[in-house]
Amino acid sequence: MMMSTNNATQTNDSKAMIQISNLKKAFGDHVVLKDISMQIGKGSVVAMIGPSGSGKSTLLRCLNLLTVPDRGSVRIGERHFEFDGKTSKLPKDRELAGFRARTGMVFQHFNLFPHMTALENVMEGMLTVLRTPKAEARSKAQALLQKVGLEDRAEIYPQRLSGGQKQRVAIARALAMQPDVMLFDEATSALDPELVGEVLNVIRSLAKDGMTMILVTHEIAFAREVADQVIFMRDGVVVEAGPPSQVIDAPQQAATQAFLARFN
Ligand code: ADP
Ligand code: MG
Repeated sequence: MMMSTNNATQTNDSKAMIQISNLKKAFGDHVVLKDISMQIGKGSVVAMIGPSGSGKSTLLRCLNLLTVPDRGSVRIGERHFEFDGKTSKLPKDRELAGFRARTGMVFQHFNLFPHMTALENVMEGMLTVLRTPKAEARSKAQALLQKVGLEDRAEIYPQRLSGGQKQRVAIARALAMQPDVMLFDEATSALDPELVGEVLNVIRSLAKDGMTMILVTHEIAFAREVADQVIFMRDGVVVEAGPPSQVIDAPQQAATQAFLARFN
């Protein structure tokens, strides 16, 4: 990953899986993202930390265009979108759906379909978006449930799953779309402490598989362990970015030091 505040000098790195350039987003006159640029290499794991309200979720949402940026550009893989501030123009529906499918997003709250079993939840996107034949979708979904350690819960409805199990189904469902990137927005924040580990284990195994990931997390120890790069955000700005040994263990900025002091 590379960071730059002087983007005139920033060259395009065609190997980067994600490239964000001069991204700006305001809600009314509240500027939430203030000129964010970053590149994230294929297979990198980036942990994004920072106080509540610093713009972390908005940045993730801008990456898959759940939120439309005001200005700047976003590229994931081959797909590139620019925003000029004049119109909040989105790509056409089909292109947008294709783009969103490249980024698997896992939220704090599980958003499973309550009327579908775990297996059906994982199959749904394959059937409706990817148009995978049913038998194939079923066997892929079974393999994904196995990957997240839930092969024996395939026929269970969300209501009867624990929070950790629901979150693992949500991860399997996102993986079913064969995303280039996985985005986790505080995926363990709503879980009882004893259920956090099972979800972190799945994320850990995805990192080992080489999945490109951005994790918004308050699990600082986990960020240190799994992330190649840590980004500390505050007030819509990247204050500090670098490897965990730098940003977590030896932060240079007073704001980063103050934030991390809360976790010690
Ligand atoms: P974080 O995830 O770091 O806590 P967010 O990206 O959720 O931060 O929010 C950043 C700021 O943007 C907050 O002040 C929040 O209230 C505001 N915000 C986020 N989404 C919206 C929205 N849809 N409309 C208005 N304000 C929003
Ligand atoms: Mg958030």
